[in-house]
Amino acid sequence: MRFSPLIRISLALMLITTTVLLTAELIGLTPNEADRILDARKTLCESMAVQFSSLAAKNDMSTIEETLQALVERDADILSAGIRRSDGSLLAEAGAHEVNWEAMPADLSTPTNAQVPIFNGESRWGTVEVRFTPVTPDSLLSLWKSSLFRLTLFVAVVGFVLYTLFMRKALRELDPTSVVPARVKYALDVLAEGVILVDDKGEIVLANATFSEKLGHGADTLVGRKASELKWMSLETGEPVEDLPWLRAMREGQRQSGVPMSVQSRDGSRQLFVVSGAPILDGKGNSRGGVATFNDVTELERKNHQLEETLRLLKESRDEVERQNRELKIMADQDPLTRCLNRRAFFQRLERQYIKASAGGADLACVMCDIDHFKTFNDQYGHAVGDKVLEKVAEVLRGSLNANELICRYGGEEFCIIVPGVDESQAIERAQAMRRAIEEAAGSTIRITSQKSITASFGVSCLSMGARESSDLLNQADKALYVSKDAGRNRVTLWDPVQASQQPLAV
Ligand code: GH3
Ligand code: MG
Ligand code: MG
Repeated sequence: MRFSPLIRISLALMLITTTVLLTAELIGLTPNEADRILDARKTLCESMAVQFSSLAAKNDMSTIEETLQALVERDADILSAGIRRSDGSLLAEAGAHEVNWEAMPADLSTPTNAQVPIFNGESRWGTVEVRFTPVTPDSLLSLWKSSLFRLTLFVAVVGFVLYTLFMRKALRELDPTSVVPARVKYALDVLAEGVILVDDKGEIVLANATFSEKLGHGADTLVGRKASELKWMSLETGEPVEDLPWLRAMREGQRQSGVPMSVQSRDGSRQLFVVSGAPILDGKGNSRGGVATFNDVTELERKNHQLEETLRLLKESRDEVERQNRELKIMADQDPLTRCLNRRAFFQRLERQYIKASAGGADLACVMCDIDHFKTFNDQYGHAVGDKVLEKVAEVLRGSLNANELICRYGGEEFCIIVPGVDESQAIERAQAMRRAIEEAAGSTIRITSQKSITASFGVSCLSMGARESSDLLNQADKALYVSKDAGRNRVTLWDPVQASQQPLAV
C-alpha cells in the first residue's frame, strides 16, 4: 500500500514534532510529573500536620479520626493514613494502615510513605503517617493517565490533521501542473496521441490522459518524475535509449521526430510508440522545457507481425503448390515404372528437337531399343521380375544420356532415345555403348539364373539420312531394330536407305 505524498509528508512532520517533544522530556525541559506529585503530597501532609496539631492541642480525637477517614476516602492516591504517638502506638487510622505501613526511620519520608510530626505547643505530640500509591506508572491505565503520554498523543493526532490540511493547501500552491492552464490540460487530454510536458530538468509537469492510460499510471503519479526514468528502449536496436528525443530537442533547440521506441507499462506489457520531441522556448529563445508526443503503434506493429506471418505462410503454401505442380508435371510426362518420358510428352519434345535440328542444319539421331526375349522373364519368373528388368534397363539407359537427350518408353519393353548433334558413326557408338551397358550392368544387377542374361537389340537412324519428318526418323530406326532382332538379337543396326534388306552391324 502506498500513501499519497501529502499523507507521507504530514506523517513525517507529525513524527518530527513528537520526537522533539519526547527529546525535550528526555533532557528535562518539561515539568516532571513525579516531582509535581511529590510536591503536592508534601503540601498535603504539611497542611494535615498543621490541622492535626491544632486538633491535638484541643485533644479533639474524634475530629482527627474523621478527618483521616475523609482523607483516605476522597483521595485515590492515599491508601491509608494514621496518627502514631511518640511511643509507637497507633492512635487513629483510616484504611488498613497498620498493614499498609512499612516501618521507617523517624521523620524520613519517601514518595509513598510520608511522615510529618505533630506538635502540641512546643512538645512533639505524635506523627501523621500517610501511605500513598506508587508514583511511577505501572499499568496501561496509569500510562494513559500520564500527562506526557496524553500530550504526545494529542500533538500527534491534532498535529497530523493540521499538517495534512496545511500541506494540502501548500502543495496546491506549489503544484507543478499549475504552470499549465486548466484549459490547455483539457485540450491535451482529448488528444489520441500521448503528450507530456517536461521542465528544464526533464521532469514531467504534465502528462495527458492518453499517455497516463497507456502506461497504466494516474496522471498525478507521473508528475514530478523524470520522463527518462521510464526505461525507454529503441525499437530499431532493442537497446535502452540514452538520448531521448525531447531531451535532445531541448539541448539542440530543434524538433526531433519519428523515433520508434518502446516502454514498459505498469502491467508489464510493452507499448510501442513513434516519439517526437520539441523544445519549449522563452521569449529570448532559451529552452524552458520540452514537449514530447507519443504515437501508439503497438496495434500497427502487431498487425504488421500478423501480416508478415500470413505472408510467410502464403509463401510456404505457394512453394508447396509449386512443388506439387512440378511433381504433377513430372508425373504427367513420365512413365511411372521406368521414369522415362511417356509417348505424349516425348512426341512434343521430339517435334521441338526435330524443328530445331532441321532449321539449324544439325544432325539428330534416333536409337530404338527393345529388350530381347522379354516375354520369357514374365513367363518364367513372373510379372514382378519382368518389371524389375524393365526398371533396371531404363535406369542404365537414362544413366548414359546427357541433359539435352530424350528417352521415351515407346512400347511395353521398347525404348526410343533421341540424341541431338550426332552423326551416324557417333550414334552407332552411343548405341553400342548402351547395348554393352545393358548386357553388363543390368545383367549383373539382376541375377535371375546363371544362364539367363539381359540383352537388348538396337536400331539407329539419323536426320542426315533423309527423314522428312520426325515420324520418318522413328520408323527408320524401328526398321533397323527389326533387322537386329532377325539377325540374332543383342546387336546394333544402322538403317540403310539404299539396301532394302539391311545387314546388322557386328556385335
Ligand atoms: P523379342 O526379343 O522378339 O522382342 O521378344 P519379346 O518377348 O521381348 O517380345 P514380345 O513382344 O513377344 O513380348 C513383349 C512382352 O512384354 C509382352 C508383354 O506381356 C510384356 N510386357 C509389356 N509391358 C510390360 C510391363 O509393363 N511389365 C511386364 N512385366 N511385362 C510387360
Ligand atoms: Mg522384346
Ligand atoms: Mg517389343
